[in-house]
Amino acid sequence: MTSFAPSAAVRRPDVPRYLVEDSHVPASPGSRNTFGGRPILPEGEDWPECYCGAWMVLFFQLDVPPDIPRFGGDHLLVFQCPVHNDAACLREKSEQFPRRYWEKPRIWGHPGAFWRIMLHRDPTVPAEEEPHLPGSELVLRPECETETRWRAGPSGETGVSVGRSEFKVGGLPHWQQDPESHRCGCGAEMLFLCGLPEDVGFESRPGQPEQPDSSYSDAYVLFLGNALYLLACPEHCHPAAVWPVLQR
Ligand SMILES: [Zn+2]
Ligand SMILES: [Zn+2]
Repeated sequence: MTSFAPSAAVRRPDVPRYLVEDSHVPASPGSRNTFGGRPILPEGEDWPECYCGAWMVLFFQLDVPPDIPRFGGDHLLVFQCPVHNDAACLREKSEQFPRRYWEKPRIWGHPGAFWRIMLHRDPTVPAEEEPHLPGSELVLRPECETETRWRAGPSGETGVSVGRSEFKVGGLPHWQQDPESHRCGCGAEMLFLCGLPEDVGFESRPGQPEQPDSSYSDAYVLFLGNALYLLACPEHCHPAAVWPVLQR
């Protein structure tokens, strides 16, 4: 059996991350950091529609803080269909994504994407208000975390213990299973941008239909409530060049 020796830990400098929290303060019309609310869409992008034709739900949007490497200053938006709630399981384990994988992802059980996740810096104005969720101000609380790698002796095998399981932007992924990496269709190695732990519920407006397969009657979840790791293209080759890795 391999034992991890703390003396062999390699600590890297603190990595900035921001915890994502709900202030429970109603969003104001021009808010850029919101649960629900009025999406600030990329130039030329309409409100996203699922392949089934349903308008997607804006779960949250936020301005990525300037000290987050490669993505600071971007605006992140996370949408998912109100009807389709599933894990996005790739049909084959391939690191390299094809071109335009965000539209026709090769996943089990769906002919197209039931989510749309976007990043942009366009000087656009807020669209109309998301009807499913009550718009609420989202707060980003700065903190740092330290990466620690545990070396496992002469075999050279490395056990990696990094990142905490929190709803956060930046920082390090807290993998529940083996780390996953992907290359964007443009060839760039995708980087971790945002993480959600399991079963984060997004409170729904009273009177809205219950989300299929949600564990809550009064809240919606993303991707069945799996732990979510957003990997994004650091080259910004397309606003939707973001992939949701899911683990449980
Ligand atoms: Zn749908
Ligand atoms: Zn790319």
